[in-house]
Amino acid sequence: MPTIARLSPQLANQIAAGEVVERPSSIVKELLENAIDAGASRIVVQVRGGGVALIRVVDDGCGIAADELALAVARHATSKITRPQDLDAIASLGFRGEALASVGSVARLSLTSRVASAEQGAAIDVEGGTSSGPRPAAHPVGTTVEVRDLFFNTPARRKFLKTERTELARIDQIVRKLSLAHPDVAFELNAEGRKPLALPARDVDVRLGRVLAPDFVSQALVIDEQARPRTDRSGNDDRDTRMRLSGWVARATYSRAQPDQQYFFVNGRAVNDRLVAHAVRQAYRDVLFHGRHPVFVLFLSLDPAAVDVNVHPTKHEVRFRDARRVHDFIFGSLNRALRDERPTTGAPDETRDGPAFQGARFVAPPTELPGTAARPRNGSLALLDGVERVFAGDSSPSWLGAASRANTGEGHDPALGQVAEGTNAPTDVPPLGYALAQLHGVYVLSQTARGLILVDMHAAHERVVYEQLKRQFHGQALAQQRLLVPINFTVSDSEADVLERYGPELPSLGLDLSLLSPTTARLHAVPVLLARGNGERLARDLLADLGTFGISDRVQARADALLATMACHGSVRANRQLTLAEMNALLRAMEQTPSAGQCNHGRPTYVEWSLDALDAAFLRGQ
Ligand code: ADP
Ligand code: MG
Repeated sequence: MPTIARLSPQLANQIAAGEVVERPSSIVKELLENAIDAGASRIVVQVRGGGVALIRVVDDGCGIAADELALAVARHATSKITRPQDLDAIASLGFRGEALASVGSVARLSLTSRVASAEQGAAIDVEGGTSSGPRPAAHPVGTTVEVRDLFFNTPARRKFLKTERTELARIDQIVRKLSLAHPDVAFELNAEGRKPLALPARDVDVRLGRVLAPDFVSQALVIDEQARPRTDRSGNDDRDTRMRLSGWVARATYSRAQPDQQYFFVNGRAVNDRLVAHAVRQAYRDVLFHGRHPVFVLFLSLDPAAVDVNVHPTKHEVRFRDARRVHDFIFGSLNRALRDERPTTGAPDETRDGPAFQGARFVAPPTELPGTAARPRNGSLALLDGVERVFAGDSSPSWLGAASRANTGEGHDPALGQVAEGTNAPTDVPPLGYALAQLHGVYVLSQTARGLILVDMHAAHERVVYEQLKRQFHGQALAQQRLLVPINFTVSDSEADVLERYGPELPSLGLDLSLLSPTTARLHAVPVLLARGNGERLARDLLADLGTFGISDRVQARADALLATMACHGSVRANRQLTLAEMNALLRAMEQTPSAGQCNHGRPTYVEWSLDALDAAFLRGQ
């Protein structure tokens, strides 16, 4: 059991200063963190009056020794760090030694605790900053913290609280959020006028279901990626550079109108970090409809020395020592997972099948079943043979042409196969099956090994064309277009700084930008694709991104937006009659296209019904 000691004034001064007790939920957060740091396996929270009348947190952690109770409630006293260098690698949730003292100055606080080695427990009371005790008190091993009459001595601050219900909702949110990062701990919340919330330990699916939504797990992709450690000169892993990202990200089709279900934890600490937010947003950019927000629960673990949590008193913000590497790792991991979601065949996955027809939602096939992923078939299909066709407004992209040509030949190209006789051998059927018909000029009906699918042919083709265009454009460094008349614009000191620092990287983004004077930048060239846009705006936004994140996806984002528009115009329109061969060619192209399950706007490109779902709908075998 660690002992509590006062921090030296010098160390205390190095800690990000500020008030942490803003409202009841911030107290709950601090108390939960203390209980987690104490190694509790079960934490019970009781609340009355929205947390203003009472907050009680009971844990079965290591407890506090009687003779340390007074220190626990003293300012700048903590058991979690002792030396200045401890601040460089914080492994606990707390370290400031201020929470209990702050609470004790604005509420009636009592702390009752017992450590395993003590015969009996002890309690201490604090009111308006003055403590009395400790006195003997009965208590099992662990700690109970009671906070009553919040802001009783500062009525002005009480006025800033919202209604009981709102405060309670925030407390509820804090408990749920923290519980995600500590699956081994059981949490309970009992609040007056509310159904109790129970989150048993070690049942992660139940927890995710209660914290997010019951169907979240079935709609999410599992993430578990490790960053390759950098090796030092002697070839050993440099342990400081190891990183792991794990958790769940919902498919783009399961997005929300608000960013209210986004949970990111760094070494078990919930953070709201701009760099992280940017990396996640960038990973979803291609697949999410504008204005929708992704849903995710992600855990980043890395060496505590590689992240600074002493940035803000509420510890919601962090600073990464190698921000760019963290950004790229998060982006890369998520991007791969989201893009790898292409159709495959495989055993039906019961948990993913919705209930019969009322469940006619997008059901993505399981990803990555070894050996079943669609393979491009040798040259049987030319996809788009050039972006020029789209530029030229040719509305019959080449796969249609290729498919029609193939169809006039003798026999059947297996890649364009008609529905074969006796397609019972599931391994022969490609993931998206063989087309049977076109419905209402909009949908393609296809029989698959598992059941049937309906494809929105415009959405699907749009995706295929878009990915094709992107491959062509981003294959090499972006081509530059020199400006006839260079653009001069004034820059701030910080913009000039950024420009000096990142100048050498700009050409790879298609930009030629230099400093003419300390306050003027000159733009000589822009990416060809964006030549018609506002060059100055692009350059400025780019500098802002580079200054903040050390990286910018601005050029790529704008280029992609343009490509998406072109893809939309270049893809098949409704009511165009397709031959079976053309439909099959589209299905095969989808199988080879990343993110084929959704169009560029994040809408599904096809829905699937399994035979089981159909059987259930017709009550067969029941
Ligand atoms: P910090 O968590 O930053 O150290 P706090 O004011 O929250 O500061 O707590 C002060 C000290 O009291 C902690 O360092 C810890 O030793 C002790 N403490 C607080 N809550 C608990 C608890 N629930 N169980 C065991 N020890 C606790
Ligand atoms: Mg604390």
